[in-house]
Amino acid sequence: MTDIQYLAPKTLDEAVRAFAATAGKGRILAGGTDLLIQMRAGILNPGVIVDIKKIPEMTAIEETKDGGFRIGAAVSGAVLREHPKLKKVWPGVVEATNLIGSTQIQGRASAGGNLCNGSPAGDSVPAMVAAGAVVTIQGPKGKRELPVEKVPKGPGRLNLEPGEIVVAFTLPARPKGSGDAYLRMIPRTEMDIAVVGCGVSLTLDKGTVTAARVSLGAVAPTVLLVEDAAKALIGSKLDDAALAKAAAACSAACRPIDDKRGTIAYRTQVAGVLLKRTAAIAAQRAGGK
Ligand SMILES: Cc1cc2nc3c(=O)[nH]c(=O)nc-3n(C[C@H](O)[C@H](O)[C@H](O)COP(=O)(O)OP(=O)(O)OC[C@H]3O[C@@H](n4cnc5c(N)ncnc54)[C@H](O)[C@@H]3O)c2cc1C
Repeated sequence: MTDIQYLAPKTLDEAVRAFAATAGKGRILAGGTDLLIQMRAGILNPGVIVDIKKIPEMTAIEETKDGGFRIGAAVSGAVLREHPKLKKVWPGVVEATNLIGSTQIQGRASAGGNLCNGSPAGDSVPAMVAAGAVVTIQGPKGKRELPVEKVPKGPGRLNLEPGEIVVAFTLPARPKGSGDAYLRMIPRTEMDIAVVGCGVSLTLDKGTVTAARVSLGAVAPTVLLVEDAAKALIGSKLDDAALAKAAAACSAACRPIDDKRGTIAYRTQVAGVLLKRTAAIAAQRAGGK
């Protein structure tokens, strides 16, 4: 390993300048639970590391003026779960982030790192997509926003320009009667990578679904927003026929790999099963059945 320069800027502007100056040879460090392992394994060898955990807006959770939340990209799962209101409003997002690794990992790992690592199996990503989260990105050319599902391009590849940093996730305000959930299937009970992950966010009015977002992880090169599954749920009372249609839409959207964790057929079937289970939890949280 060659020498590494470690930078810990205190402001976002400083971080953007420092990162851009590395001209592609630098890496952002959030929790380091992916980055440091990849460096140790010799997969990555950055000349400069730009630590973003010392930047207040990257590690803060704030309520927005319209009743949503802005979560700094470097906020750890452990900090997220201690927020007094976030867990009540977006329990699925908080749970998904806290499925990552162990207690030790959760003390460091961030949703920003989970997204920017670019793994199709990242646990917080489908939950953020179901929540309709939007990321703020800042780079040498300024600031822009992207829905979370538009950030991954493929395994390990992102729709970020050189020098761009993910700054924050913005979760929208929640109408009354809303709930979200995230479930994953793993072959072991702990510390494993999702074979399938499913995020569901629902809004119910007198038991009828008025809004829905459904996402799947680990079944395609990038996280999937499954609009046909959401369409099948909207207008229904989550009866068996609507759930079966949504489950079929999830299975149809899958383009998984075949590996030792799960075959294509297995992942495709589990996607539908998880949709039903995740939707049931989201509905219960929304105050429905
Ligand atoms: C033992 C163990 C268990 C794990 N279990 C799980 C699991 O169950 N589920 C799961 O999804 N993952 C798991 N992981 C992977 C990892 O913990 C997560 O992906 C975590 O969310 C990464 O966050 P981080 O803050 O540590 O990212 P880092 O390691 O700091 O960064 C990850 C990548 O993203 C880039 N990056 C980070 N933040 C930004 C940003 N704001 N803008 C631009 N680029 C950025 C970095 O340069 C790096 O390439 C596990 C890892 C370990 C070691």
